[in-house]
Amino acid sequence: MAYLIFLGPPGAGKGTYAQRVHEILHIPHVSTGDIFRDIAKKEDELSKRIREIMERGELVPDELVNEVVKRRLSEKDCENGFILDGYPRTVNQAIFLDEYLSTAGKRLTAAILFDVPEDVVVQRLTSRRVCPKCGRIYNLVSLPPQRDELCDDCGVKLIQRDDDKEETVRHRYRVYLEKTKPVIDYYSKNGVLHVVDGTIGIENVVSKVLEIVRRGKNDTCEE
Ligand code: AMP
Repeated sequence: MAYLIFLGPPGAGKGTYAQRVHEILHIPHVSTGDIFRDIAKKEDELSKRIREIMERGELVPDELVNEVVKRRLSEKDCENGFILDGYPRTVNQAIFLDEYLSTAGKRLTAAILFDVPEDVVVQRLTSRRVCPKCGRIYNLVSLPPQRDELCDDCGVKLIQRDDDKEETVRHRYRVYLEKTKPVIDYYSKNGVLHVVDGTIGIENVVSKVLEIVRRGKNDTCEE
């Protein structure tokens, strides 16, 4: 059992690490960004509103995010653990999650912050491309497709997500600093925060995460 929160700026690699940890620990990767991107594809009023918020690089209102997360965490596959990626992003959300977990008789194993400087984030995100057909993610610098800018699986031309354009990335970084730094302080005060250098390579980062989980579980056992 491991209840994990992955924190860090957009482009810190949270999704990639979460995917690896999911494969190793068999706990679901819950990405609020992915959930909202799905909702944004629909054509109703709510989806349109969310699409506009995301295109501006702003945050979706807490009440709505909390409701969506509560619904997802109540599903059966989250019973024995989860990796929250992109949530909580505000102190309000962190408090809501604490209350939800305590009602469910669960305890956070760790909140892990992946530390990556702004310029590295900008470089990583502006070179990210995605296949519009299958959703596979590439990076023109670190994980390029085999041919031009075409998906290896579908042969379709890769696209840049609107929120990966440089201006939006810098704005999202500023929003992150302003809104999410208090969340980091919150978990630091609660004694569950761990900081991992997000520039040391995927496998090294994942090893550090697994070590933190192992220690977090031991802490729980000792109580
Ligand atoms: P991400 O892929 O995690 O960067 O999320 C993409 C976008 O989804 C963000 O820029 C927000 O507009 C929205 N979003 C995702 N998670 C949250 C959250 N916890 N609180 C508010 N908005 C969110």
